[in-house]
Amino acid sequence: MGLENAKSTILDINQYITDSGKTLNSLKRQLRQRTALFSIFLSRMGGTTFEYDIDMDTTYLTSLDDDGKIKEDIIPNFRRWMHSMIADGDELLVRMRDFLVSDGASAPGEMYGTFESQAKFLTEEYRWYRVDYQVIRDDIDNHISAMIGYVQDIENEVMNRKNLEDKVMRDSMTKLYNREATEELINRRIANLQDREKAVIFLLDVDDFKAVNDNLGHLAGDNYIKAVSKALRKAFRDGDIIGRIGGDEFVVFISGYITIDVIEKQGQRMIDLLMRVPCKDDWKVTCSIGIAVTSDTNMSYNKMVARADEALYRSKSRGKNRFQLYGDNNY
Ligand code: GH3
Ligand code: MG
Repeated sequence: MGLENAKSTILDINQYITDSGKTLNSLKRQLRQRTALFSIFLSRMGGTTFEYDIDMDTTYLTSLDDDGKIKEDIIPNFRRWMHSMIADGDELLVRMRDFLVSDGASAPGEMYGTFESQAKFLTEEYRWYRVDYQVIRDDIDNHISAMIGYVQDIENEVMNRKNLEDKVMRDSMTKLYNREATEELINRRIANLQDREKAVIFLLDVDDFKAVNDNLGHLAGDNYIKAVSKALRKAFRDGDIIGRIGGDEFVVFISGYITIDVIEKQGQRMIDLLMRVPCKDDWKVTCSIGIAVTSDTNMSYNKMVARADEALYRSKSRGKNRFQLYGDNNY
C-alpha cells in the first residue's frame, strides 16, 4: 500500500468516526426526546408499558413513580417468573402464556389486540386491567422476538360499569330485581336446570293493599312494600332470585333437588313470615301466594308465571292469606 493510499484510508476512517459520532449524538437526542414524550404520555394516561424481549427472556416494565419520574422494572427469566405467578392464579399472565405457547406467529390476526382481564402481579389484590399488545418480529428471519404493550388499571371503570348494569336491573324503591331482569334471570336458570332438578316460582301478591293506602296513606304503603322486600331478602339465599314485578306483586325463584313436600312447607313459611312484616299502626296485612313448579328446561318464565297466577287467583278466592300450588286438584 502506498503512502497516499494509507493517508486517504485514515481520512476515510476519520470521516467515518465523525459521522458515527454525529449519528450517535442524533440517536441519543432522539432517545431523550422519546423518553420525555413517554413520560408526558404516562403522566396523562397512567399505567405501565411492557416490553418482553422473548430472545433474552426479559421483561421491562415502565411506569412513573410517585414523583412523576420514569421508573423501569426489569424481570429477568420472565418465563419462570410468569409460571410462578400463574400458579397464583393470575389470569392476565395465563393469557400471555397461552399466546406465547400457541405462537401467535401463526395467526396474523393476533399480531396486535386488546383484552380485559383480572390480574394481581402488580398489586396485592386482584384488579381489572386492559391490555393493548403487539408482537414484534425480527427483521432478518421474521421470528417473534418481542411482545410489547400497555397495561392500564381499569378497576374503577369495570366497577362503575357493573354498578350501572346492576342499577338497570333493579327496582329503584326496593332494590329487588325489576320485571325485565327477573324474567331474564329466571329464563336463564330454567334453561340450565340439571336432570331431576326442579324450578319453583312463588308469585306473591299483598292482600287488600288498596286498603293500606286508603287508610294509612301512600307512604305507609310504600314502607310496607319495602319491609316485605327486606323480609324476603333475609329469608332466601343469595342464589335465589327475588323480584318485584308489579306494585304489590313479587316473585321468588328457587331451584334444586326439592320435593313438592318441601315446596309446600316453604309456601307456608312464607305466609307465616309475611304475616309478621310490620305495617304502620299495627295494621294487619297478609299476602297470598301461587306456586308453579317445573323440571322442564323448555318451560318459560312467562308460562310459569301464568300458572302461578292461576294458583294465586285460587288462593285469593279461597279467602287469601294462603298459598296454592298450580295443578293441585285440591282447589
Ligand atoms: P287483592 O287482595 O285482590 O290483591 O287486593 P289489592 O287491594 O291488593 O288489589 P291489587 O293487588 O289489585 O292492587 C294493588 C294496589 O297497590 C293498587 C295500587 O293502588 C297499589 N300500589 C301499586 N304500587 C304501589 C306502590 O308502589 N306504592 C303504594 N303505596 N301502593 C301501590
Ligand atoms: Mg294485591
